Amino acid sequence: MTPVRPAAMVDLDEVALLLDIDGTLLDFAPTPSEAWVPPALRRTLAGLLARTGGALALVSGRPLAGLDLLFAPLELPAIGGHGAELRPAAGASADPDRTPGLDPRLKRTLATIAEIGPGILLEDKGYSLAVHYRLAPDKGETVREMVAAVCASFPELPLEILPGMAVVEVKPSAFDKATAVAELMRIAPFAGRRPVFVGDDVTDERVFPILPPMRGIGFSVSRRIDGVDGCFDAPADVRAWLDGLLARQPVG
Ligand SMILES: [Mg+2]
Repeated sequence: MTPVRPAAMVDLDEVALLLDIDGTLLDFAPTPSEAWVPPALRRTLAGLLARTGGALALVSGRPLAGLDLLFAPLELPAIGGHGAELRPAAGASADPDRTPGLDPRLKRTLATIAEIGPGILLEDKGYSLAVHYRLAPDKGETVREMVAAVCASFPELPLEILPGMAVVEVKPSAFDKATAVAELMRIAPFAGRRPVFVGDDVTDERVFPILPPMRGIGFSVSRRIDGVDGCFDAPADVRAWLDGLLARQPVG
């Protein structure tokens, strides 16, 4: 992989920092609930938020509520739920009606997948439904096939299936991280700034192509994704880069 030398490309007076969480800012944990935020990262993010005039946002598949608990007491602007939730400023509340919920008939049908045996857990996020099989890993393939079959039985609903670590999540295809990033970049203090997006997920791949028209910059983590300007080897390198950005910039 090409090492990233992004320092000269990023001026905190003109950029908006948009950062995926798991696998980008944080090392992967066995389960999302076991992820750990180093205290130094909280301080760095708080410093960069101030230094960019509030133009720093987390961009995650995690729901906003869970993301806030993870980074507490720090609260940051954020896109949550793969783009379903958008909070342009710390302390602001996300618009609950911004995205339509997942069809209740579809949710009920997906819930019947749990009948195949113990260990299948359902997580209703409102705008999406996640089917977890971490406690029944031998049923993973069956769960994935059944989720696909159920979704195919609702041809009138435009849906997207997101496979994850021992989980399959179903959401409307109307929103994703790219649509939410485009929306966020039209809102102050993000509007008019150059987006700098860092991500590693399959769901992040759609964000990179929308960056060039905004004079944006994209970096992937742990793998080179098409269209990126550079690639970090690991989340620790992203954290070190952010530390460096803050250290180099004049304060006040
Ligand atoms: Mg990620």
